[in-house]
Amino acid sequence: MTGKEINGKDISLEIRGKLQKEVAALIDKGVKPGLAVILVGDNPASKTYVKSKQKSCREIGMESILMEMPFDTSEEKLLAEIKKLNDNDDIHGILVQLPLPSHISEIKVIQTIAPKKDVDGFHPVNIGRMMTGQDTFLPCTPFGVMEMLKYTGIDPEGKHAVIIGRSNIVGKPMGQLLLRENATVTYCHSKTSDMKSLTNQADILVAAVGKPKMITADYVKEGAVVIDVGINRDENGKLCGDVDFDDVKEKAAFITPVPGGVGPMTITMLLYNTVKSAKKTLNHRNQNKDVVK
Ligand code: NDP
Repeated sequence: MTGKEINGKDISLEIRGKLQKEVAALIDKGVKPGLAVILVGDNPASKTYVKSKQKSCREIGMESILMEMPFDTSEEKLLAEIKKLNDNDDIHGILVQLPLPSHISEIKVIQTIAPKKDVDGFHPVNIGRMMTGQDTFLPCTPFGVMEMLKYTGIDPEGKHAVIIGRSNIVGKPMGQLLLRENATVTYCHSKTSDMKSLTNQADILVAAVGKPKMITADYVKEGAVVIDVGINRDENGKLCGDVDFDDVKEKAAFITPVPGGVGPMTITMLLYNTVKSAKKTLNHRNQNKDVVK
């Protein structure tokens, strides 16, 4: 079997096309979706991600503002800027690019963002909503993976999904979203023993580890769906995933490439969440008008 590539760029384009129309409709009604991105320090990878997010916002007609703050910015100053954005009616989504310098508490920063503007879906309130199946902003990377599965016609129900990685932003929510769609979920992590025996049972295998090409064919069951979240550099400095694509593609039924797989979907779901937030603002405004009438 040769794995069919799941093209994240194409799926992204389709979703972004729909979002562009929704943005135009919102602008007609007086609400231009706006995303504020805060970048602290000058980490080159973070700068690249932030630029790409801003470009994507503009391409679909959204407003995007970038606040660049020096590396030695105090936590207090950063929290004060976030509070200002919480109160700014033109901003519907706030994103603080991670990682932050070590003198700033990530959890404090995340908790300072108003849950209704937390378009990354990292705030504990939104995580709680996700866990209990309530409407919320879903974390962009796992949300993007779920959309890829949906667009490819892969139904997780009854399947065994194995997630390698248990970070708060990828692995853990990934398992929750698959569980919500009735998959049976197993998590693997750095302390898992005999990981191959588990990954070899996976109908859906998600790699979110951060180790270049770690997942070779011997980790994969014949006919599995293999989702590669990893973004790494190989020994030649070339972008690659956590999965050894060339080795695994013959065995997998479906496989995502890196680049061009999960990466574009993450940004697309960020746009989706910001548009969703703007729509909520408009609905809220309309409801208040009704009350006044
Ligand atoms: P983290 O470093 O936060 O988490 C990595 C996870 O992998 C941890 O749970 C860790 O286990 C586990 N792990 C590490 N080594 C092993 C091992 N040898 N065997 C099994 N498990 C292991 O990373 P993130 O979740 O933030 O990111 C993972 C990857 O995804 C990275 O390459 C990152 O760049 C990429 N990424 C891509 C995105 C995209 O848009 N495509 C978005 C976000 C991230 P333990 O908990 O025990 O330490």
